[in-house]
Amino acid sequence: MKSDLKTSVAEKIRSMSLLFVLFVAAAASVWAVFSVPAPIVDHMLEADVRKQAELWQRRIILHMQEPGESFEEGVIQPHDAHMLSLFTEETDVYRYRLLTGSGEIFWSSRSDEIGEFEANVFFTTHVAKGETYYMHETLPAYDVDGLTLQTGTYDSGVTREVAQVYVPLIHNGHFDGAIDFYTDITDLRNTFINRVQLSLLVLTSIALLAMTIAVYVVFKTNRFRMNQLRQRNETEREILDEQLRLAREVQLLGELNEWLQSSRSLDELFEMVARFMTHILPTAEGSVYVYSNSRDVLDGCASWNGGTHRDHIHPEECWGLRRGRTYEFGSSEIDFVCEHAEPHDGRAYYCFPILAHGETVGLMHLRALSDATEEFISSKKLAQMCAEQISMAIANVRMRDQLHDQSVRDPLTGLFNRRHMTETLRKSIGNSQNSGTPLSIIAVDVDHFKKFNDNHGHDAGDMVLRAVGSVLEQACDGDEVACRPGGEEFTLILPGASQEDVMTKAELLRQAVEAIVVRYGEKALPGISISLGVAHYPRHGTMPQDLLRASDEALYEAKAKGRNQVCVASSAEQAPRDPGAQKHRSTHPKPDGPIAAE
Ligand code: GH3
Ligand code: MG
Ligand code: MG
Repeated sequence: MKSDLKTSVAEKIRSMSLLFVLFVAAAASVWAVFSVPAPIVDHMLEADVRKQAELWQRRIILHMQEPGESFEEGVIQPHDAHMLSLFTEETDVYRYRLLTGSGEIFWSSRSDEIGEFEANVFFTTHVAKGETYYMHETLPAYDVDGLTLQTGTYDSGVTREVAQVYVPLIHNGHFDGAIDFYTDITDLRNTFINRVQLSLLVLTSIALLAMTIAVYVVFKTNRFRMNQLRQRNETEREILDEQLRLAREVQLLGELNEWLQSSRSLDELFEMVARFMTHILPTAEGSVYVYSNSRDVLDGCASWNGGTHRDHIHPEECWGLRRGRTYEFGSSEIDFVCEHAEPHDGRAYYCFPILAHGETVGLMHLRALSDATEEFISSKKLAQMCAEQISMAIANVRMRDQLHDQSVRDPLTGLFNRRHMTETLRKSIGNSQNSGTPLSIIAVDVDHFKKFNDNHGHDAGDMVLRAVGSVLEQACDGDEVACRPGGEEFTLILPGASQEDVMTKAELLRQAVEAIVVRYGEKALPGISISLGVAHYPRHGTMPQDLLRASDEALYEAKAKGRNQVCVASSAEQAPRDPGAQKHRSTHPKPDGPIAAE
């Protein structure tokens, strides 16, 4: 904008300068037309009049009877006198005189001069040496001797141009004398001046016209070049702007990618997506949906820049998901609005299916802000790239989740494995220590499971273990965790519940397992039971291994007491009051290595 202003000011200055130059040239031409001709014409006239005077001289000499004698002696024959008196009437000469070689005027059209001597020095210095001598002067009209004056010109300040020419008479290299002619060249001079002026006028007009055309052409060419330069500048600036925009987009995409790759969960990922998308595509509001585990609906996960998302949408509500490719609303003449985009106000929008490892895992919906449709449409490619980044990030997070699950979950039941159980227990103890909230664990073991396997086969046993795992998992609320540390043993970590509630829960679990009916092929398998041992923090231990040991001992006690029952671990002071438990613990075999008896 600033440079445009500068350019237009520079152009104006240039135009003004050219106009000024033209004006000066025109003024100079006018001056030249009206001032220069006089000296030129005078120069031309001199040559002309000199030649004319020489002709006059030759004519006079030709008509004289004895010119040599007359000039030598300074005497005029009567015949010559008559001829000479007629000469002024036949020519432009209004006065002339004949001089001898010594400068005596022996004949003149003004008789009073006869007998006088030429006083001018040039007569001896130039004329006597054979040179024709020319003089030109401007005289008041009344001063011009022998000129017939018109009425009124005497006092009117009228001037006349008078030429006086001395033409020497050389005979056999000897200067015999000269004839001095006065001729009025005013009219001739004016005619010459007029002609020269006219010629100059034409010439200068042509020159001015040529100059104007040249200036115009130069001006136009410059202007054309300026426009070309300006256009090139604009194009280069546009390219630069485009490159800067691309660089910014690449940078933002790189940053988005980096952040998304480092996100630990989908929630965190969508929070980042929302923040980045607002920056990367400020002309669009958006939302992201991800398929639920059941894959029958998509859950709304995030929205940004004024966009909103529903809790759930069905895949059939989106043309992008239905057609399996990006859907652009507003790009063709006939469009159908996706149901999930209702209520719709006619703004352009995109639905990008999000793919991970070839599978559609979600949807990114972008809608143009009300005043930015053009920018929105031009940013489709960038939006597409964002959708791809998000797809890859979702795939990564899912894969990481899967790997993590594989490392912490038991493949048969889906419950947490022993490693995760120990970690969770350590964390839970730390939390309880800090917050003072209660914490309990329940050790669970299926009764006579070896026998069950022996009777019904290992596969049937697996089904039963899965059913037991499912019951235990469903019993867990909030931070409660069900684990399968190994074999037919399970452990529940129950933070936040009172000891009474834990005992109730244990009993309910026992009953629930007892009620399990597992179908295996055609038949229903016989029911099974579990024994449960409960330990409370910090009453039965403050370290994970102490609590686990205490719950195991309670479990053995339950086994010892006849199985299918719940026992709580004995505290140091309780132990002597429960001699039965001591008996069972000592008799019950330990399933997973030795556990120290109390
Ligand atoms: P108790 O009532 O004293 O606990 O007797 P039990 O038979 O259940 O105990 P024991 O430790 O003697 O046997 C455990 C059995 O559990 C042995 C094994 O066949 C079975 N078992 C362990 N892991 C699995 C498993 O993953 N699948 C199946 N089907 N059986 C398993
Ligand atoms: Mg058992
Ligand atoms: Mg066992």
